[in-house]
Amino acid sequence: MSDCPFCRIAAGEIPARKLFEDDDVVAFHDLNPQAPVHVLVIPRRHVVSLDAAEDGDAPLLGRLLAGARRAAREAGVASGYRVVTNCGAPAGQSVFHIHLHVLGGRAMSWPPG
Ligand code: 5GP
Ligand code: ZN
Repeated sequence: MSDCPFCRIAAGEIPARKLFEDDDVVAFHDLNPQAPVHVLVIPRRHVVSLDAAEDGDAPLLGRLLAGARRAAREAGVASGYRVVTNCGAPAGQSVFHIHLHVLGGRAMSWPPG
């Protein structure tokens, strides 16, 4: 999707501070961090949201979650971090290419806003 910012980051067409990438997923630092560590993990393939994913996407979703774990380890917050996906505009999704937020480096409160 040429008009999707995360597809363009995955393709290297717009710059991002990448933490790692492999054949399936890309992890990069959020432009507007909400915690000392705030990494986004995306699939290379354009999937709009968790709700748009299908049962057949389960392996990809698993790789996304494993990517979140790797991001937390590589960013040095494996002892405590939060993984969030905002699904749909009412939940706060603003980029419609599925992504996991990996947040760490500070205490987290609950419930989230
Ligand atoms: P959402 O609101 O969809 O859950 O999360 C989108 C996230 O993407 C936001 O935290 C926002 O700061 C981040 N973001 C949006 N555009 C860019 C970009 O071009 N580069 C990077 N690194 N982060 C972005
Ligand atoms: Zn996309």
